[in-house]
Amino acid sequence: MQKPKPENTAPAKPKASRKITSKKALTAYSPQQIEEIFRRFRVQRPEPKGELEHVNPFTLLVAVVLSAQATDVGVNKATRPLFKIADTPEKMLALGEEKLGGYIRTIGLWRNKAKNVIALCEALIHDHGGEVPGDREALTKLPGVGRKTANVVLNMAFGQPTMAVDTHIFRIANRIGLAPGKTPEEVERNLLSVIPDQFLRHAHHWLILHGRYVCKARKPDCPACVIADICKAPEKTTDVPAPLVPIEARWEAEKV
Ligand code: SF4
Repeated sequence: MQKPKPENTAPAKPKASRKITSKKALTAYSPQQIEEIFRRFRVQRPEPKGELEHVNPFTLLVAVVLSAQATDVGVNKATRPLFKIADTPEKMLALGEEKLGGYIRTIGLWRNKAKNVIALCEALIHDHGGEVPGDREALTKLPGVGRKTANVVLNMAFGQPTMAVDTHIFRIANRIGLAPGKTPEEVERNLLSVIPDQFLRHAHHWLILHGRYVCKARKPDCPACVIADICKAPEKTTDVPAPLVPIEARWEAEKV
């Protein structure tokens, strides 16, 4: 005779699937390593700032538009006198495209940029009462404003934890495997998901400054790098991290 089944027998669990997923890891680092990387960046630069000079959200927006394929130092040289006389869309519009061109002709693509800035001022006055809007959708509808520019403005003028992926951030994310991606958008998405919230507000500047002064394009300066012991870049030249001390921003700017 067949034995009755015990009443409390749990139904058999389905066997765990052994299927191996091919999903690519978002980062080559553990959460603890990422936390440590950004903790060190924060010690180096507790309050990192962008290097584009500006006096209000409007002049920041104009400076970022002018900085495409140009250096911050070059843009600052041109905008210092410009922003003294035109720090609102109304004043910039009154200056006109030709005179604006006179101020910015040392910056690459200045003719197009002058056109864009004037069109930008018209749109700001017409659609936003002369104010820079604080949301991505409205910003990216403005002439000459792409996703990266909008991210910079949202981060610097409105304090939002955005990630504007420029050439430095794109290089570092891929070189060290922090958040690899084929496009700036992919790197942006990956960085936003692997960086702990507490570091997101300043992560954009920490990475840019690290790329500009240490993890440089042609030859990374690994002996000067505070994360050399954690870094997994195949081309790094040392495992010994540089001393972790706060950095003088002015000293850095003079090095360029
Ligand atoms: S160790 Fe070298 S490659 Fe790695 S992050 Fe630092 S500078 Fe870049």
